[in-house]
Amino acid sequence: MKVEVSREVEKIIKDLREKYKTEEKIESIKNAGISGVILKLSPRIFANVRRVPELWKVLGCNYEYVIAVNERYWKSLSEVQKESIIYHELNHCVGIDRDGEFKYKLKDHDIEEFSSVIKKYGDFLPSIKDFMKKASLKKDDENKKETK
Ligand SMILES: [Zn+2]
Repeated sequence: MKVEVSREVEKIIKDLREKYKTEEKIESIKNAGISGVILKLSPRIFANVRRVPELWKVLGCNYEYVIAVNERYWKSLSEVQKESIIYHELNHCVGIDRDGEFKYKLKDHDIEEFSSVIKKYGDFLPSIKDFMKKASLKKDDENKKETK
């Protein structure tokens, strides 16, 4: 398996961490080393994020997370697509202080659902309702910008 460190991915990570540093989740990982690599992933995914195993840290690796982008698609993506994909992966990363012990974790998606279920049943759960509300607010923002 060919794996390369991607300076482009690392630059996007750095820029997004600066741009959204006041967001709670991004703030919680401000001290975490996050690397970016490019490699061949499953055709079903654009990217993923992994925690660096504790053993690697004992061996001198200073990263908490590695964001891997899929070499099948990366070069053909627009700048906005690249940024949104990396932002998605950063949203999986979270630092949690529990009882005075700070730990880095991976967080699951807000919702996991099939579009066919939402098409039939709509926002039948509060989590889906909240998700759809936020998506429509974003859409309203874009429509306001377009009409200006
Ligand atoms: Zn994800």
